[in-house]
Amino acid sequence: MATKPQVPAVRDLARDAILKSMLENISGYNRKYPGVNIHVLKQAVIEKVVDAPNPQKPDVEFDPEIQLRGFLRAFASTPAYTTKFNVLDDKTKEQIRAFKDGDNWQETVKNGFRLPEINPAVSHALDTSAGSSNFPTQVKDCVLSSLTFIIKPLSLLFMKLKMGLGVEVLAHAQATRYAGGPKVYEDEDTANAKPIEVYSRLPFRNWGENINNTPLYTFVPTTILGIQNLVRYAKQNNLRVRCGGYRHSRWSTLSQDGEILISLLPIIQVTSLPDPISIRPTSQSDKPTELNRIELLDETPEVMQGKRWCRVGAAVTLEAFREWAVNLKQWTLPVDVILVETTIGGVNAPICHGAGAGKGTISDYVRRIEYVDANGNLQFVSNPGQLRAAAGCFGLLGVVTNITYELDAMTYAIMKPLKVDVAQAIPPLAKEAIPYALRTPEYDNITQEQLEKWKEAFNKRAAEDYYAEWFWFTYQKKIWVNSWKNTTDGTDFLDYPNGADTFFQWLQGWIGGVMTDTYFFQALPGAWQAQLLATLGLAVLPPTVGEDATPTYKTLLPNALHFRRGVQNTRVRDMEY
Ligand SMILES: Cc1cc2nc3c(=O)[nH]c(=O)nc-3n(C[C@H](O)[C@H](O)[C@H](O)COP(=O)(O)OP(=O)(O)OC[C@H]3O[C@@H](n4cnc5c(N)ncnc54)[C@H](O)[C@@H]3O)c2cc1C
Repeated sequence: MATKPQVPAVRDLARDAILKSMLENISGYNRKYPGVNIHVLKQAVIEKVVDAPNPQKPDVEFDPEIQLRGFLRAFASTPAYTTKFNVLDDKTKEQIRAFKDGDNWQETVKNGFRLPEINPAVSHALDTSAGSSNFPTQVKDCVLSSLTFIIKPLSLLFMKLKMGLGVEVLAHAQATRYAGGPKVYEDEDTANAKPIEVYSRLPFRNWGENINNTPLYTFVPTTILGIQNLVRYAKQNNLRVRCGGYRHSRWSTLSQDGEILISLLPIIQVTSLPDPISIRPTSQSDKPTELNRIELLDETPEVMQGKRWCRVGAAVTLEAFREWAVNLKQWTLPVDVILVETTIGGVNAPICHGAGAGKGTISDYVRRIEYVDANGNLQFVSNPGQLRAAAGCFGLLGVVTNITYELDAMTYAIMKPLKVDVAQAIPPLAKEAIPYALRTPEYDNITQEQLEKWKEAFNKRAAEDYYAEWFWFTYQKKIWVNSWKNTTDGTDFLDYPNGADTFFQWLQGWIGGVMTDTYFFQALPGAWQAQLLATLGLAVLPPTVGEDATPTYKTLLPNALHFRRGVQNTRVRDMEY
């Protein structure tokens, strides 16, 4: 194996130079990592991208489908692939196999996209890493390679750190579901009262794996009374109560050693990767509890034309809410995070944002917060002044049980996604501010007048579009621009992303998770890792065929807000500016 692979000098550290250095050096990894088909990786992925937008080779086919298939083939014989593949249901396996072996992705899902079923008995096994425990190196690599500066870096989707969730621990926890923990009841039936599901000393790890601790007890309540009883129990025993939704946050208010954690979602759901909810209709609405119900309210003030208040349980996932809104086609949250694997309580607490200068945060649309306070009493806040503190309470107000949002009447997004040169997408204040490595061959000829025009267009998008995000994958000369206006005209809208798109996106997240779990990937220099992730990530973002294409998708607003599914199948650490 090449001991010190050659990475281009900083001045040249951009896509093509990195890919060329990979082409020249990556075969050196063959002997140590025979499970990875490096030949396929070179031929179907790296060479295709190097050649793609090359005017000297106009006949080269540039099709991200080929790359995605190349990634699948390259990693198909690794233990990480086998582990994550084996736990999928047969139909999904068949679809992945068909796509890998050559079917086009529309063809693969022609008879309906069958959504993966993951056997709960084994799904925790998905979270094992095939890699070694070289955490510090990985931290370094990932921090370097995810240093992104634009409003919303998509590199966040694809940075993976070393992990290895305690599978045995989870199995143990399942075996001791009620054993070892106190019986705290969640209903009033004194004769046959139901204790809250509880796990004793179940290690907690957030999704990004930077928070690790062991609460004394992890409870999974389903009623408000249960939460009240729990808080009273905690008070009597001098224990602190923390809450966790999907565990996507990266700060320390999530869980704590020796205290009580309330998990708003089932443990299996928040500890399993891949997570199927973005591609499998959620079952939450089948059995609504007091904590995951969605209710339209009649009490919207009459002055609010085109608005409707909606009470939503803190445990409702954003996927369940998206499905509810899309099925009804009447009301929508005006803003939302992209990720659907989050909870209503979880996105409210840290004041999560969508995108769009005039749209505010999700917490700005809260009209009432219901919570259990430190004495176990149910309280609510609806005073607008107090709501400014209570909505967005960082998990410190109490246990939030339900949130009333003011929804907008449904509108339709007119998405016109573009892949544009860096200087054009986010025009520099001064021309020399674009790093040398990211300049195109024509860069020197760009006139001041041209730059001014680009700035004007950029400002217009930022200030006037309903939604405006710019994604930069590290070391790329192109930026993905996702900025759009909406309309009330509901004619001729598409289901975007549709089943085939979702399959493609989900598969990309899935293979990203496989790739980053391999020893091979973890041994690569950071710049190579970043480039592989960028190649994979950009492939599924439209325009998917031909970077210069200008597709338009008119779709329901909630679908446009959640335009990218299955993101969480690849763990990341990220920076956002
Ligand atoms: C890939 C990725 C993409 C993301 N994209 C965006 C984005 O586009 N916009 C954005 O703003 N954010 C984004 N985030 C951040 C994410 O939305 C937040 O971390 C959000 O909090 C996650 O929700 P959750 O259900 O996982 O909450 P958790 O992380 O489980 O909890 C978040 C906080 O809320 C508290 N909490 C949860 N439930 C309750 C409750 N019932 N009562 C009281 N406190 C509670 C917790 O204690 C914790 O402090 C992204 C994160 C990732 C990993």
